[in-house]
Amino acid sequence: MSNIDLVPLQATLKEFSPQGRAALLPALHAAQAIYGYLPEPVTAEVARALRVPLADVYGVIEFYAMFYNEPVGKTVVRVCADPACAMCGADAVLEAAQRKANSDYTVERAPCLGLCNLGTAANVTSGDRGLTFGKVTADSLDAVFAMNAGEAADYVGGDLRVLTALCGQGRAATLAEYEAAGGMAALKKVIGGKTPPAGVINEVKNSGLVGRGGAAFPTGVKWEGAAKAAGSPKYFVVNADESEPGTFKDRILMEGDPCRILEGAMLGAYAIGANKIYIYIRGEYPTAIERVSAAVDELRQAGYLGSGFDFDIEVRSGAGAYICGEETALFESIEGKRGFPRVKPPFPTTHGLFGKPTAINNVETLATVPYILTHGATAFRQLGTEKSPGPKLFCVSGDVARPGLYEAPFGVTIRHLLDDLAGGVTGGGLKSILFGGAAGAFATEKDLDVKLTFEDLRSAGLPLGSGVVMVFNETRDMRDVLLRLGRFFAHESCGKCYPCQLGTQRQHEILERVAEGKQRAGDVTRLSDVGWTMTDASLCGLGQTAASAVLSAMKLWPEMFKG
Ligand code: SF4
Repeated sequence: MSNIDLVPLQATLKEFSPQGRAALLPALHAAQAIYGYLPEPVTAEVARALRVPLADVYGVIEFYAMFYNEPVGKTVVRVCADPACAMCGADAVLEAAQRKANSDYTVERAPCLGLCNLGTAANVTSGDRGLTFGKVTADSLDAVFAMNAGEAADYVGGDLRVLTALCGQGRAATLAEYEAAGGMAALKKVIGGKTPPAGVINEVKNSGLVGRGGAAFPTGVKWEGAAKAAGSPKYFVVNADESEPGTFKDRILMEGDPCRILEGAMLGAYAIGANKIYIYIRGEYPTAIERVSAAVDELRQAGYLGSGFDFDIEVRSGAGAYICGEETALFESIEGKRGFPRVKPPFPTTHGLFGKPTAINNVETLATVPYILTHGATAFRQLGTEKSPGPKLFCVSGDVARPGLYEAPFGVTIRHLLDDLAGGVTGGGLKSILFGGAAGAFATEKDLDVKLTFEDLRSAGLPLGSGVVMVFNETRDMRDVLLRLGRFFAHESCGKCYPCQLGTQRQHEILERVAEGKQRAGDVTRLSDVGWTMTDASLCGLGQTAASAVLSAMKLWPEMFKG
């Protein structure tokens, strides 16, 4: 007989059971907040209430890193040791944290926590409370474990402040502050003035806006596809599952100015004919989840949701799975399943969330939409270059004087970003810059005058990705950087297809040998073969790009890989 009191859980589950399986992740989060982990009677009760087979519930729990089916400490402390935090001494912090672990505190190594500008980062959860701390040192661990360490402030700067005008103040701008700065004007203008949805789509198409999440697909074309697709209801989804090592822009936007993103999403939902908006935020971003949820409440109270404007917005928390940033894996997660990417086509515009027509956009993309619809496509095109219009956010981390979030028009040079905005390289000369994130490529001194546009970076062989600019000075050991990237992909591969599942493991093993100087005969060829096999044969973008940085390093520094 179980001595677990299920009464509080049963009361909580009443709220979720009408949604059935689609509420599985929120229900598991709520259950874990009550019991600290998900023991068998709790899991069975969730399965019963949501009418999901118990085996499926176990499959979901095991898939997500932030769910536990074995007892853990009352407080779980996750310390990031990916490249940017490692440069700030994360290994020593993690070791010190592990020495403090006991039956009350569980300590884990976490994949990137999205505070690359504020390393070392640590995420702490206890019951239904979650906090993330930056600039953690061995000396501040007591306060971090007690969840009362001070908050480290993000530096936000740049040549423009179109998207980031209200960010970087250490708190979220209120709806009133957003409105005072011109916010919600686009929504009122479009819906109040009854601009038809096609008019909104045309304006966005004319602006030349392309997605800022990495894929750079034209936003207006995506919206048009979803608007014209047969089937109802339609859904609008905000992809806020930012987890790429080196990326923290969406976190700062959500924490600083959540109403801007929600206004962009409502404009998108109106354009495609959707009434329901989901915003899926990674579980490691508790502050963003809290502030976006508070902004949704403010919008509701102010009449922007419900009767006045026919939208409903639901905030969803991820549970620790990088792959859920892949759009179809994100849909699966909202539907209450493991985050396995789907085979495409069919594409989300016709067969998206719950198999219905869906538009899904990244946070930064949506933050630009209110500007376009308030000021017009022409004004937007006056920022940036002809082929890369608009402002862009760059996440600068590593060896620079001022790591932070920088907003600049497309077309400035890498040199300008590094020297004029971020204050220059520190600790020695420049060794390299990782562009585009873990799935990116390395730039060196010779690339400093390349312009930051999609087309210039592409011809220099550098992906813009999600705007990651991670800087390494000449004292850094690039083998260690590659090892950490390799570990990240091996950890985050979802395991659905073999080229990636096995390839990321083999890649990690070879990178371990390279880092230790214990290469075996044939390792160079093996590393290259594994990389190209993943690139060519993997099912989704994770596997297709998991070798990108490694292959780029092999080209730049072949001597590094030889024994
Ligand atoms: S490429 Fe990797 S992450 Fe993508 S489906 Fe295959 S195993 Fe999963």
